[in-house]
Amino acid sequence: MRSFQVCRCGEPMQFAETANPKPTGSEVLLKVLAAGVCHSDLHIWEGYYELGGGKRLQLQERGVKLPLTMGHENVGEVVAVGPRARGIKVGDKRLVYPWIGCGICAVCKRGEDQLCQSPRFLGVYRDGGYATHLMVPHAKYLLPYGKAMKPEQAAPLACSGLTAYGALKKLGDLIKREPVVIIGAGGLGLMCIAILKLMRGKGAIVVDIDPVKRAAAMKAGALAAIDGKAPDVLAQLKQMAGGGVWQAIDFVGAEVTARLGIDSLVKGGTLIMVGLFGGEITLPLPYIPMRAMRLQGSYTGSLKELSELVKLVGNRSLPLVPTQTQPLEDAQAIIDELKAGKVVGRRVLTPA
Ligand SMILES: [Zn+2]
Ligand SMILES: [Zn+2]
Repeated sequence: MRSFQVCRCGEPMQFAETANPKPTGSEVLLKVLAAGVCHSDLHIWEGYYELGGGKRLQLQERGVKLPLTMGHENVGEVVAVGPRARGIKVGDKRLVYPWIGCGICAVCKRGEDQLCQSPRFLGVYRDGGYATHLMVPHAKYLLPYGKAMKPEQAAPLACSGLTAYGALKKLGDLIKREPVVIIGAGGLGLMCIAILKLMRGKGAIVVDIDPVKRAAAMKAGALAAIDGKAPDVLAQLKQMAGGGVWQAIDFVGAEVTARLGIDSLVKGGTLIMVGLFGGEITLPLPYIPMRAMRLQGSYTGSLKELSELVKLVGNRSLPLVPTQTQPLEDAQAIIDELKAGKVVGRRVLTPA
């Protein structure tokens, strides 16, 4: 098999050629048909998250080991199964749930692998899909998807789709009655607009500093798209939302976007924080109770949520976001473009 690996953080990825691994126990080996390039891969490749105040969260101190094959949005075709793998056979095409936990702790038993303290996330702590082949520890993490969908359309559901869906679910039924403010119209923001529609939401008001991304948001069906750099962005946002914002999702996670999200909320409003751009904010504590504000982080989603999402998306043959396929060799170039903020929609590698 061929893998495209991060050997040193921030340096160009390199190809490695190894023998195909043989699945043991419950393992399943897939040929990778599609591997989405996610914005979080940029952070993994760089090796850190900005914490603000000059501090950084180093991923290698958090258990990320190099060399690493990134890629956590994968669709593959089964090529070999371990002796104890059940419910799966060679030739099956499946979407891979990558947010795999230890499998034995209380959190994993509750079905929230993505919050496990000993994660085995594919493409983060274990090798992912920037390769011709991918090993998955158990068939339960392999989901069938709509037959009319191409692999490159299904793959982004595993992170971008699931992250948007997981964030929207935290807002509950209010999404049907009030618009959702979406800050950041990158791959995640666009995916969120599309999924909100499938969930029969009232609609999205989008904030982005890039006119190209605002146009993409309007094309995706947003109610409005506001320039995040406009001096009166807060006033525009409140006006569009009918006086104040009930619910916002920050897909950027920078100081200025978190501040905008918090300042826009009405009493009793909710800000869901998803983006990992980085930084820090100060917040007068009395505002939290006085404005009955809810600030909640959201990190991907559970296996059950991914299976709900796959059902919600159904058998549509159109991609949820503009999707462009590229060969495995282009992975580094795409990471560089993401760093420059140049990517609209989703880029997906097609290694096999
Ligand atoms: Zn991701
Ligand atoms: Zn666990």
